[in-house]
Amino acid sequence: MATIYCIGRNYAAHAREMGAPADAEGEPVVFLKPEAARLEPPGPIRLPPDAGAIHHEAELVVRVGAGAVAEALALGLDLTDRPRQAAARAAGLPWARAKGFRGSAPLGPFVPAADVGPLDQLTFTLAVNGAVRQHGHAARMLHSVPRLLAYLDEVFGLRPGDLVYTGTPEGVGPLALGDRLVLALAGVAAAGSRWEVA
Ligand code: ZN
Repeated sequence: MATIYCIGRNYAAHAREMGAPADAEGEPVVFLKPEAARLEPPGPIRLPPDAGAIHHEAELVVRVGAGAVAEALALGLDLTDRPRQAAARAAGLPWARAKGFRGSAPLGPFVPAADVGPLDQLTFTLAVNGAVRQHGHAARMLHSVPRLLAYLDEVFGLRPGDLVYTGTPEGVGPLALGDRLVLALAGVAAAGSRWEVA
């Protein structure tokens, strides 16, 4: 069984749009999703019937290999029930339902880390209905991938096969029925994926 780790507030511009503090010096914000949340392309992505708004968060995802290093990379969506997350934040309660509901972790195909070049040079996009909504540059992460893996291994003990969603850049927003999503990693066509909200 793999553990799905997720990093919050790892891009300053996204933290700002959420009204949250972000800081490269402090500890990473970490939460988990159940493995059953994982969804293969093309999904479909299903919006829980009682959710107020499910936001897309496009993220670089690392699969951990032996020695707690990045073995492979993919693009994923950290789907978030934003009203429920806001209510949990306000009440000081966990995010489990807001972030870990069924199907909340769409994940595209993995490519070997050795095939994608330096991790801190990667850029990716999420387009919804043909319009780019999120544009991520790994160089803008507050905590780099090697730092995140070292931290997670020290605190939790990473195991081969574990997954790490590395945080979302700015531009998050709600999904609607019928939306068509395209995740693309610049220069690495094999990491792309297409999704539909049904
Ligand atoms: Zn996220």
